[in-house]
Amino acid sequence: MSKLSRRAFLSASAASLVAGAPALAATPYSFRHGAFEIAVISDGHLVLPTTFLAPDAPAAERETLLKLAGQSGAQFNSPTNVTLVRTPNDLILVDMGSGDRFMPTAGRLWDNFKTAGIDKSKITKVVFTHGHPDHLWGTVDDLDDLMLPDATFYVAGTEWDFWMSDNATRGLPSERAGFVTGARRNYVAIKQKVKIVKPGDDIVTGLRIIDTPGHTQGHVSLELVGGDGLIIGGDALTHWLISFQHPEWRPTADHVPEQAIATRRKLLDRLAADRSELIGFHLPYPGLGIVERKDAAYRFIPAA
Ligand SMILES: [Zn+2]
Repeated sequence: MSKLSRRAFLSASAASLVAGAPALAATPYSFRHGAFEIAVISDGHLVLPTTFLAPDAPAAERETLLKLAGQSGAQFNSPTNVTLVRTPNDLILVDMGSGDRFMPTAGRLWDNFKTAGIDKSKITKVVFTHGHPDHLWGTVDDLDDLMLPDATFYVAGTEWDFWMSDNATRGLPSERAGFVTGARRNYVAIKQKVKIVKPGDDIVTGLRIIDTPGHTQGHVSLELVGGDGLIIGGDALTHWLISFQHPEWRPTADHVPEQAIATRRKLLDRLAADRSELIGFHLPYPGLGIVERKDAAYRFIPAA
């Protein structure tokens, strides 16, 4: 039986998810996973155009799902969940949030650290799933100095090369040229402290990089051993309803749509088969749950 069932977590109900506004939790959601202690700290939320969710999906079907998700308006709130992993020797942060230069509703990470009484200077390692603003731009402060000057930073080589090369501007719609400038600003700041990694590499024993490309060219996730397994999935699955029920729909934010679809299918298939837990960066706080097969697709069953 899965760990989530043992904890007698709530079953997935659309109502509970719709009601769950992005949390700014004073006490972060925490749990133990094998040798790791996990906490999910909110960075606030993004406010995005609803059209971003699945612009090319059949309109009637999309409307039905958006209604079910409580997102029929022109904009929707997308939670941003940053995962903190404590091991006996390390405090490891997965992504750094938006910082102060992306959206006024995001960039709350360090406030939430403070409220929770967690000392950010104790963070030894930071692993980035990818180079989008809501995951990377919190790396530096408003003077472009590192927020965590003593940490070591881990970036997938494919992702680093994408943002630092001319391909970055070619691969993005022109209105998002600022994403490239921002990614480079943050990557340049960590240049002396970065370790370039690839899928299969361990950050520490039991915490491994896995390949989940498509959302961006070098998007990666993290797999934690122990229990039934846990995957910190970054933006491979970004919407609690659409990504699971229609993994074949193409959110605007995916850089390589066909690859992103293939990654979603593969990840969902695995999560449903082995009952690993999932933490999704944009799923309703804390973004933790399991995946079940439902009809021809899947559904997300949140832990809280
Ligand atoms: Zn994101």
